[in-house]
Amino acid sequence: MNVKRLNNMTSPKMICIWKEKMNNNQKAARPNILVEDDKPPSIRKSEEDDPLSLAGESLRSLLTPTPRIPEKKTSLVSHHGKTTIKTKAFRKKFYPLISDKEWNNWQWQLQNRIQSHEKLSRFLTLSQEETLVNRTSQLPLSITPYYLSLISPDDPDHPLRKCVVPNVNEWLQMPGESDDPLGEDQQSPVPGLVHRYPDRVLFLLSDFCSTYCRYCTRSRVVGHGTIHPSRVRWEKALKYIEKTPAVRDVLLSGGDPLTLADDRLEWVLSRLRQIDHVEVIRIGTKVPAVLPQRITPNLVKMLKKYHPLWMSLHFTHADECTPETAKACARLADAGIPLGSQTVLLKGINDSAKTMASLMHGLMKMRVRPYYLYQCDPITGSGHFRTSIEKGLEIIRSLRGFTSGYAVPTYVVDAPGGGGKIPLMPDYIQGHTTDNLVMINYENRTFLYPDPVSAPAEDVLK
Ligand SMILES: *Cc1c(COP(=O)(O)O)cnc(C)c1O
Ligand code: SF4
Repeated sequence: MNVKRLNNMTSPKMICIWKEKMNNNQKAARPNILVEDDKPPSIRKSEEDDPLSLAGESLRSLLTPTPRIPEKKTSLVSHHGKTTIKTKAFRKKFYPLISDKEWNNWQWQLQNRIQSHEKLSRFLTLSQEETLVNRTSQLPLSITPYYLSLISPDDPDHPLRKCVVPNVNEWLQMPGESDDPLGEDQQSPVPGLVHRYPDRVLFLLSDFCSTYCRYCTRSRVVGHGTIHPSRVRWEKALKYIEKTPAVRDVLLSGGDPLTLADDRLEWVLSRLRQIDHVEVIRIGTKVPAVLPQRITPNLVKMLKKYHPLWMSLHFTHADECTPETAKACARLADAGIPLGSQTVLLKGINDSAKTMASLMHGLMKMRVRPYYLYQCDPITGSGHFRTSIEKGLEIIRSLRGFTSGYAVPTYVVDAPGGGGKIPLMPDYIQGHTTDNLVMINYENRTFLYPDPVSAPAEDVLK
């Protein structure tokens, strides 16, 4: 990880400052919980087997309090406390005539999304790798002006930039990569409906997203107009759910379901609620990160009629935890919608202990519970995004015990071929003696738990 990126990781502090502005009266109540002396006791011999120290970085800096710097000098939040300095400067430079009302209108954001290299090059200095991309790229280019405002104009290594700006590496097909690695098309009884697990289905409402992630698992379908948000297709999927009583959980995804207009989404939700055996509805969305303006009071008022409704929000990096996104999440959480997050582990974007911890902490502050950390699927052209499995395990090891249990997601590999999500855990079990289970804790210390082997020793003797 280069120093530049470390310096870019301003978001946790940013949210913190913003929050303080919002809750000035609660300021005094906020204790500095972690001081040097609070560090857990350690029996480590060397820095090398220090689980806090990963790839030359240390989580320790996150665990020690950052000194409070006077707000005036460091405030990353503009005067009205609702946007970051980055977004404010971006608007001033590129959209000086656009009113707050327009900018904060999600339809305006959609209408003005950046969809061509030519337009993108007016905002960013594109690198050679970014410009060499074939124009008929498989996955379309699309970025909302809001999300673009968070991206560094000059640094092609900026994490959010790598997520959404096409790169020539997308054209390299590596061994083991395919367009449908999860075999979704084989497990699809009706177009746009994937039934892989016994009690739940994945219902793809449309193939449209406001902003396309270059590593998208469904890049074979998203943005291509193959999964129409048509009532005829939706009816077929609803019929399937109706006649399959085992389905108690319906996961709406896509594309992004929250890019549909309120009434169209409500139509689906109300139809699902008429099916007795559908107990839970879930929506998978990246909207709070890329188009937070979409989370309007009206949308939330409509959604809360269809409880129990859960949401899985897609986040990649702490730079996405802006005041706008925090407000969107607050509206959803206030409507009683449990919020979980899904994050794809991405090389050079979030594959360090420190970056991942600040994202998880940023999410918790927005009342979003980290749910899954995904190993990047071997989708065609994903080689430059994928890390080793060991990297993911190392990150989980760096979180567990060192931070809130709620901040630790489940690390999963979606099994190529359609085997579903397989959880991977660092190995805390070292072995078993006759009487004890031998384990190591987060600090690498060994502990025993009395667990006599109910070995058929006697049976054998009989
Ligand atoms: C991820 C996924 C689900 C939901 O899985 P959970 O572990 O319940 O969140 C359902 N169907 C498909 C096809 C999926 O990929
Ligand atoms: S938001 Fe989800 S579906 Fe849309 S491009 Fe990103 S990963 Fe794919």
